[in-house]
Amino acid sequence: QKELLNQLKGKENVTKSGQKVNVYANIGNLADVGAVLKNDAGGIGLFRSEFLYLESDTYPTEEQQFAVYKKVAETMAGKKVIIRTLDIGADKQVDYFKLDKEDNPALGYRAIRICLTRPEIFKTQLRALYRASAYGQISIMFPMIISVAEVKKIKEIVEEVKAELRTEGAAFREDVELGIMIETPAAVMVSRELAKEVDFFSVGTNDLTQYTLAIDRQNQKLEDFYDSHHPAVLAMIRMAAESAHAEGKWIGICGELGADVTLTETFLKMGIDELSVAPGMVLKVRQKIREAE
Ligand code: PEP
Ligand code: MG
Repeated sequence: QKELLNQLKGKENVTKSGQKVNVYANIGNLADVGAVLKNDAGGIGLFRSEFLYLESDTYPTEEQQFAVYKKVAETMAGKKVIIRTLDIGADKQVDYFKLDKEDNPALGYRAIRICLTRPEIFKTQLRALYRASAYGQISIMFPMIISVAEVKKIKEIVEEVKAELRTEGAAFREDVELGIMIETPAAVMVSRELAKEVDFFSVGTNDLTQYTLAIDRQNQKLEDFYDSHHPAVLAMIRMAAESAHAEGKWIGICGELGADVTLTETFLKMGIDELSVAPGMVLKVRQKIREAE
């Protein structure tokens, strides 16, 4: 089996009828990049930037972040690297953020909600990301989006950051792709409007399942109820795909479901453009795509 999969390295992710899909990999720190290349992923579809914050006793500086983003961009040598801005809060707590204890952390102050209310933290990360964009093919993705207003606010802050960097004469790419995660039912319901504002969508099926089914993804007692194959979840993904495509944008899946090969054909039929999976799953997903009609 391993041998068979190894033979798929260098091969295209294409179905028998010629439909092509990008298969990228998810990573959680710099050390994982080796596995991405070893498994012949076409890019990084989700770089969870939280580790920078979780592994530090205080806010990581712009220079610290820049060094990491630059390194991953350079190592991927022109392949797409989609970096998600910090998704702290809920299950990922960091002491120095001094977040209040909340009754419903999954529904609480987290991710983009922190970034939009504490823009100094957000701007530091955006500055590091834009500066690193000069060294490879970086895209930026924002988590936990629920509204067009949030995206407009994000774009204002992005423009401020770019203006600063221009004034400073810093090297960066003007055309960095900006995308959002689709991981709330609200984002799905307004996906057509959101698609007008961004370059791409990436479906976070872990949270989308949690919020669609109203089931805590961390509660082991509810494991049997947490059904990512629920028709409501699949309908959400289909709707987001239709919205993206209606506005000429691409859509990927970066939650765990993207690696579920029992659904690969379903995703192909929806026209999903990219699947981002654990590095060790890249070749298995490629195999499944190549077997599909
Ligand atoms: C998701 O919610 O599906 C996702 C990819 O993000 P995370 O698992 O980091 O919340
Ligand atoms: Mg998520």
